[in-house]
Amino acid sequence: MIRVRIPPSPTGLLHIGTVRTALYNYLFAKHGDADGPGKMVFRIEDTDKERSTKEYEKDIIDGLVRLGIAGDEGIHVPGDKGYRQSERTDVYKSDLERLLKEDKAYYCECSKERLDQMRAEQQAKKLASRYDGTCRDKGLKSGVIRLRVSEDRGDIKWHDLVRGEMVIHARELDDFVIARSLDDPLYHLTVVADDHDMEITHVIRGEDHISNTPKQILLFEALGWKVPAFAHLPLILNEDKSKLSKRKNKVSLNDYLEEGYLPEAILNFLALLGWNTPDEQEIFTMEELIEKFTLDRVHKGGAVFDVKKLDWINGEYIKKMVAENVDEFYRVAKPFIESKLNEDPALIKKILQDPDFEGRFKKLSDIPEGLSPLFTALPDYPLELIAREKFGITSEMLKKVLKKVIEVTKGLEWEKGDSNKSQMISEAYVGIVETLGLKNGQVLWPIRVALSGLEKSPNFATLAVYLGKEETLARLKKALQKAS
Ligand code: GLU
Repeated sequence: MIRVRIPPSPTGLLHIGTVRTALYNYLFAKHGDADGPGKMVFRIEDTDKERSTKEYEKDIIDGLVRLGIAGDEGIHVPGDKGYRQSERTDVYKSDLERLLKEDKAYYCECSKERLDQMRAEQQAKKLASRYDGTCRDKGLKSGVIRLRVSEDRGDIKWHDLVRGEMVIHARELDDFVIARSLDDPLYHLTVVADDHDMEITHVIRGEDHISNTPKQILLFEALGWKVPAFAHLPLILNEDKSKLSKRKNKVSLNDYLEEGYLPEAILNFLALLGWNTPDEQEIFTMEELIEKFTLDRVHKGGAVFDVKKLDWINGEYIKKMVAENVDEFYRVAKPFIESKLNEDPALIKKILQDPDFEGRFKKLSDIPEGLSPLFTALPDYPLELIAREKFGITSEMLKKVLKKVIEVTKGLEWEKGDSNKSQMISEAYVGIVETLGLKNGQVLWPIRVALSGLEKSPNFATLAVYLGKEETLARLKKALQKAS
């Protein structure tokens, strides 16, 4: 059975790259193999005591749980123990003792000064920097612990499930340090011990870990353990093709949630960040992703983080959710809406479902601003905005138009918020275009600006419907005053 893992280090808030790695592991496991769906293990790599914090750990756990991709076993499952490296020191210690006993590892007491000097000499001779084996056969009983890498090991090879055949020459590796002491193991040792003990079959992780893989293969071999399969995912890049960075992009999951991206949309977007289907499908349910995901369709080249695409995908999810279940959508969007607008939820839900608002919102945070023309006081707008030159609107024309619109409006009856009347209002206003022998923009543009005070706003009839007759008339009169 497939068993994968996500082992974040709690040295920062949940990173969007970690979310993608978790997602690909999750999809790969759930897609499964001939034995059916596999399992995913979620553990915490907190060997770096200085940089690891409980707050970051909590943020990472909460984030993956919220997204529904935390997996089957691990740190997030109540009662599960031993999924934090800091709780497993005894295990690593016995692995280290065994390596020392079998002479596959040895103590080294070389000082930092000595090692620095050695490296400087190697550099001067243009040689690769590697430990020269000074302490190899001294039989020391203390110091750091190094893995003995046999000179006749030959090439280290693995078949990467994304990148194909990988070959690293053993001479490129040296006797690397696997622990600072018996009680202070380092990443390579802990990760290999964990992957073995947790029976991991596939290690799927970022391309930045490629250089770690040969070292870890050597450790698996030294410990006499089966080496898992490896797959390295493409780097995530900023738009300028540099490695995704805080300076150019938001990188923590929270940033995206706080901006009003829906969890499902984020996952859909991340699924496509380095993977696609042959037919280039863009919107997927989780079931479809699980069914379609395979590692052989993961790209080798870097994946550019395209915020416009994320916006588009999120907009599609908003549209779908509003159409399918507006109450549920309102529940999710509520914090964004109610922090800015104090209006009747029933009315807001009605507006959200109005065809004129369909597809207008890319993010939940766009909603209050998009709806504000219907609710907030009319902003003060300049005369040039309503008497738009582009449409050839003269001041005389504007006055004539507004007077006519006011007259026509007085003759109409509608209940505030009755979207069934939108058509009637629309026809009445469009009728004025013909009556006055003008162009569409010369009549409809001034109405839109008079009602919203904005350059960009919903459709004029929608504005009138939700403002109600009284407010519509008041705003039209205000515009007439401005024009006079
Ligand atoms: N703890 C490592 C990280 O957060 C993951 C190492 C691995 O996947 O082997 O990058």
